[in-house]
Amino acid sequence: MTGMVLFALIKKIGLPLQLELLLIIMASILSHGLLDKLSILTYHPELPLYGDMFWEEYHYKILPIATAVAGITAWNECGPVILFTIIPDLDWILRSYLEEKPILHNIVFCFWNWLPSLPDWRLKRSGVIVELILILLLWSAYQQLNLSPHFFKTII
Ligand SMILES: [Zn+2]
Repeated sequence: MTGMVLFALIKKIGLPLQLELLLIIMASILSHGLLDKLSILTYHPELPLYGDMFWEEYHYKILPIATAVAGITAWNECGPVILFTIIPDLDWILRSYLEEKPILHNIVFCFWNWLPSLPDWRLKRSGVIVELILILLLWSAYQQLNLSPHFFKTII
């Protein structure tokens, strides 16, 4: 969703098309690193808590539904941006073939090392409130920016 907001902001600037596309692609990929850094503030235990009702309800129902609704709603306007934002997660595929260290994540994290260290709330259930507030803020920012529909279809 951060990629969607950055996309809408960059569109508002009104740059030449090639520069706009380059910025959108770079901002989308880099936004993945920012969100991964912020995820320490949200309820995401490092290991799955199978058998924990709260963890299972949140990770198997609420988050997938919220993600699907946001993705489906915004797909026509910025589907490719959504795909660009998940490029660093190719690490999960690369890791099984190449090496143990996440290559793409380490690259995008380089751009966010200036962030102060944040409190680790990954095991705190109240972290779901932080995550839901972040989702609502990003969603309302995206809606406020009011994109023209089918942007990518007009340039392809
Ligand atoms: Zn990631």
